[in-house]
Amino acid sequence: MSSPNTFRTGPNESGHFDLFGGRFVAETLMPLILDLEQAWEDAKDDPGFQAELDHFLAHYAGRPSPLYFAERLTQELGGAKIYFKRDELNHTGSHKINNCLGQILLARRMGKKRIIAETGAGQHGVAVATVCARFDLDCTIYMGATDIERQQPNVFRMKMLGAEVEPVTSGSATLKDAMNEALRDWVASVETTYYLIGTAAGPHPYPAMVRDFQSVIGREVREQLDAAEGRLPDTLVACIGGGSNAIGLFHPFLDDAGVEMFAVEAAGEGIDTGKHAASISAGKPGVLHGNRTYLLQDDDGQITEAHSISAGLDYPGIGPEHAWLHDQGRVNYVSATDAEALTAFKMCSRLEGILPALEPAHALAHVIRHAPGLARDHLLVMNMCGRGDKDVFSVARYLGEDL
Ligand SMILES: *Cc1c(COP(=O)(O)O)cnc(C)c1O
Repeated sequence: MSSPNTFRTGPNESGHFDLFGGRFVAETLMPLILDLEQAWEDAKDDPGFQAELDHFLAHYAGRPSPLYFAERLTQELGGAKIYFKRDELNHTGSHKINNCLGQILLARRMGKKRIIAETGAGQHGVAVATVCARFDLDCTIYMGATDIERQQPNVFRMKMLGAEVEPVTSGSATLKDAMNEALRDWVASVETTYYLIGTAAGPHPYPAMVRDFQSVIGREVREQLDAAEGRLPDTLVACIGGGSNAIGLFHPFLDDAGVEMFAVEAAGEGIDTGKHAASISAGKPGVLHGNRTYLLQDDDGQITEAHSISAGLDYPGIGPEHAWLHDQGRVNYVSATDAEALTAFKMCSRLEGILPALEPAHALAHVIRHAPGLARDHLLVMNMCGRGDKDVFSVARYLGEDL
């Protein structure tokens, strides 16, 4: 396969990034998916929509997030000059609000009165419940019964914000079952309901739309690093669950051939143990959640459960644009284990006074491996996409402390 002239124009009109993506949905959903695509195309070209989004990104979410020189970490590692993009400082503690604000404004523009979403760990559910409260829309969040058990604080947050949390007991009662249930609800209530997907996955146009909403991260990095250093970065690093924060950082730089990129999957207890969430490193192409991409599956094609210390990375698939960028060789897909993420979590807390979420702690684990071998004028930017407050109980449990 020859390299395309640009990595930034996809997907094509059927929603494909070459072999990946598409829209594998029930017949009854097709008209709505086409409606949504049209509404998004119109909104993108409407300066009024962009101005409204920019207003809420600035005054509600707190953008732009700073680009911070991690001086002590840089000294400790003794190689590349390391910057953190501080998306953990956003309202609700991660990059998820960027996408939720974009989609809620689109839903309102489409005249929808009811929002549905699925959530695994609850971070996306909380961000959706937040924007639904702000814009006074009915909100139903599908969540696996097992996850509800494991994530009580987030369930309570969603309820305080006025959302209905709908337990899903089918299958393994986790994220993939919640996704199926949300799609079923959507088929049954398409006229009134907007489905707010939380990562750069799902049927077309979601992967491209979520990417576009998250690309504010990379656009800001471009400007901020230019102001600080007068040039482009040499290396970008981000963690990967479904892939929205990573594609948001990478996309504005995909055609800058000199910028190398690393996306870090969760290797859990180790790829060879089978207990991981590394869809590209250890998965195979298949169809889930309305698109074709790399998935964790067994020999019969059944989706298998993802494992990671970080609840936000344990999605059994990956967005289709990443599957394509992997096949093109444009982005390097690597992984980090639970243990490596924990070491990174501790190092960042002590050296920089920043408790990272366990998700970006995986990205940091790769920075710790990679940076020492690089020159001192090599510019590396890592997306600090979430804060660690939500993870202190998990970390304490791993360290054998009872809180
Ligand atoms: C949800 C989440 C992720 C994973 O989602 P992506 O779509 O891969 O970005 C990563 N980090 C944090 C902090 C999250 O909340």
